[in-house]
Amino acid sequence: MNFTSPLLNWYDAHSRNLPWREQKDPYKIWLSEIILQQTRVEQGMAYYYAFVERYPGIRQMADATEDEVLKLWQGLGYYSRARNMLHTAQFVTRQLNGSFPSTAKEIQKLKGIGPYTAAAIASIAFNEPIAAVDGNVLRVISRFFGIQDPVDKPDGRSQVDTLANEYLNRLRPGDFNQAIMDLGSQVCKPRNPLCSSCPIQKDCMANALGLTDKIPMKQGKTKVSEWHLDYLVLTNKGHIAMKQRTRQGVWKNLWDFPETNISSPTVRDEFPEIPSEISHSTQIPELLATFSHKLSHRDITARFFLLHISNTPDTINGQNVIWTPKKRFGELAVPILIEKFWSKHQQNFD
Ligand code: SF4
Repeated sequence: MNFTSPLLNWYDAHSRNLPWREQKDPYKIWLSEIILQQTRVEQGMAYYYAFVERYPGIRQMADATEDEVLKLWQGLGYYSRARNMLHTAQFVTRQLNGSFPSTAKEIQKLKGIGPYTAAAIASIAFNEPIAAVDGNVLRVISRFFGIQDPVDKPDGRSQVDTLANEYLNRLRPGDFNQAIMDLGSQVCKPRNPLCSSCPIQKDCMANALGLTDKIPMKQGKTKVSEWHLDYLVLTNKGHIAMKQRTRQGVWKNLWDFPETNISSPTVRDEFPEIPSEISHSTQIPELLATFSHKLSHRDITARFFLLHISNTPDTINGQNVIWTPKKRFGELAVPILIEKFWSKHQQNFD
């Protein structure tokens, strides 16, 4: 099968000029890979530049606080990536004397790094001959070789891994991996692949069999659950009550408002219950906005209720809160849902 040579020739002529490809610094390659785990290149680029400017090397990142890193990460979502990144920067700096591990096996021991990211870093930064299989690579390999087993099941997945490693160019493993990723994102797209301009079309099984819209086959889909939140936006003389989420989850350590978590909209009250810590108020909370927001595993509907109160309790519904002045709201790292609300309704707090 004519796969590797035409692929690398195409890459030499069409590879994208991306800033992390201009050198072999494992710190910058690692940073780019973490940012791009769930993010498109176009969106991730600005974040990459911001991080490199603020932390030119892993030692500078290791000295950052979690709040600083989360703030710089704000808007990218999947905040555990940022928390794990800081943890890894500190581990490499303090335990490994700033020297980034150089094999996929060792890199995978770092927090937040799975087999794909470890293989990508090892092959690109250290020339280790190992295939890095992400969603793009799964699609290209399964289509080209006509794999008709579900690639989200062990059997189909292992066929892809085996073929990717078998056809890997051992002299240019990093380029080979990046070439398939680029081909997957630019040509062999999930829908309507551009087969007529594909460098490996001649031997592509899916193209020959007319199966490009069927492959890669998948069996399972992630179950998405509904999540209903009522936020109480409490204010007192230009200060707003904010709480930090301490429980495990994608929003861990981000800031939001005191909330009531409601399992079903059918039992939703017209107004949220007033927490006992709030001094008696004759006011009724005012419904300011309702927002919908999608996470990978959750559809969130959040209502935001405004209530001006006369005291500033340290806890609301038993959870610690801080009273932040409106002008300092932007310094807190908040989920994108809260950012959306704030950018539309901050004038209500003047
Ligand atoms: S010929 Fe079409 S389906 Fe096959 S690898 Fe190229 S773009 Fe993908």
